[in-house]
Amino acid sequence: MGKEMDYGTGVVRDERYLEHDPGPSHVESPLRLRAIYDRIDATELAEELHLIEPREAAKEELAWNHTISYIERIEATSGKQVSYLDPDTSTSPNSYLAAILAVGGLFNAIDAVMGGKIENGFALVRPPGHHAERDHAMGFCLFNNVALGAHYLVREHGVEKVLVMDWDLHHGNGTQHSFYSDPKVLYISTHQFPYYPGTGSVDEVGEGPGEGFTLNIPLGAGMEDSDYAAVFNRVIAPVGAAFDPDFILVSAGFDTYVGDPLGGMKVTERGFAYQARVLIDLAKEVCGGRILFCLEGGYSLKGLADGVSAVLYECLGKGILDGETLAFLQGVQKGPAVIDRVLEVQRNYWNV
Ligand SMILES: [Zn+2]
Repeated sequence: MGKEMDYGTGVVRDERYLEHDPGPSHVESPLRLRAIYDRIDATELAEELHLIEPREAAKEELAWNHTISYIERIEATSGKQVSYLDPDTSTSPNSYLAAILAVGGLFNAIDAVMGGKIENGFALVRPPGHHAERDHAMGFCLFNNVALGAHYLVREHGVEKVLVMDWDLHHGNGTQHSFYSDPKVLYISTHQFPYYPGTGSVDEVGEGPGEGFTLNIPLGAGMEDSDYAAVFNRVIAPVGAAFDPDFILVSAGFDTYVGDPLGGMKVTERGFAYQARVLIDLAKEVCGGRILFCLEGGYSLKGLADGVSAVLYECLGKGILDGETLAFLQGVQKGPAVIDRVLEVQRNYWNV
């Protein structure tokens, strides 16, 4: 990570993220980030990327998305050997610190993009965030990193419209709820359905002033790179362009990977590269290339290392897709039948 700060790609990383330990044999293990960091260090990515150090998010900042009593409940786990928060979410002595550094790491990456120091980047943080609700932990998540990032963009940088794209295997219930009645944040999710956490049907479209600013694309198991490409080509790219955001945040989970132990999807590193490509191209088209990826799930160590590096190469403009594969994926139109249903609902809101 020797590069001088200039217009390029940044990564947030810190060894303290590995100190959040949800317990032996838990799939959301520190080894996930170790595999990603080791892959970066073993390749030319190490020389190409700018290192962004995290900071601790303040309680007043966390309170943009969480209740004070919940924040204090998580803070009270500090130094305690283990605290159980929900059936699959628990903490270790340094989990609170890791969690506020995860949020603050994304904040610093946002500052770097908005300040013109980098064009784009990836917050390689844990614990993940998109299941975290206003007042409770859920699904391995403590604080909702990406939701807080969207609040930060609006509150601290005066950004008017944020696109949150959540391509994790699971629906981001927490993020959806955070902005369900807020037209400033368009939340789009692809997810296996029906599956944990149960939310994310096509008919969940937002409410009040936020109606039309939640877009769910529930997918049956077994989807491949070309299925996701169809969804990105036919729904996400055109709706994203119509929304015309000032910034794109990506809840980037890699549990759709073909070998993931929790997921039933069949996405390869080429699929992740293509999904990133569509979003990076959209960012260049509408918002000066301003896009940040933030790590959510992904439980195959190989899938994480392959997937994150594929995205990073796309960020750097040195993508792994050969011309033939790219042309094939760009040309995919049909895809899963749910696309027609999604478009039927979304035509109430978008000219697509
Ligand atoms: Zn997930």
